[in-house]
Amino acid sequence: MAEAKDSAGSNEFYRQAPYTEAFDIEYPQEPVEGKMNTYRCKSCKLITTEINGRLENHKADCEYRLQRKA
Ligand SMILES: [Zn+2]
Repeated sequence: MAEAKDSAGSNEFYRQAPYTEAFDIEYPQEPVEGKMNTYRCKSCKLITTEINGRLENHKADCEYRLQRKA
């Protein structure tokens, strides 16, 4: 239930970026247990601040990344 509340905040962060259209934030995310406002890709488990909205920052074998590249 905390998911909806927190994801609104992180979307706001991405919208402030100067190159929003290059950002890829449609990937499935899940909250990181024990860490407030921290989310990670459901496929490769990298946290959103590491991915930083870039498809190439997902792990090479990330299911989502492979899907987007196909
Ligand atoms: Zn990923």
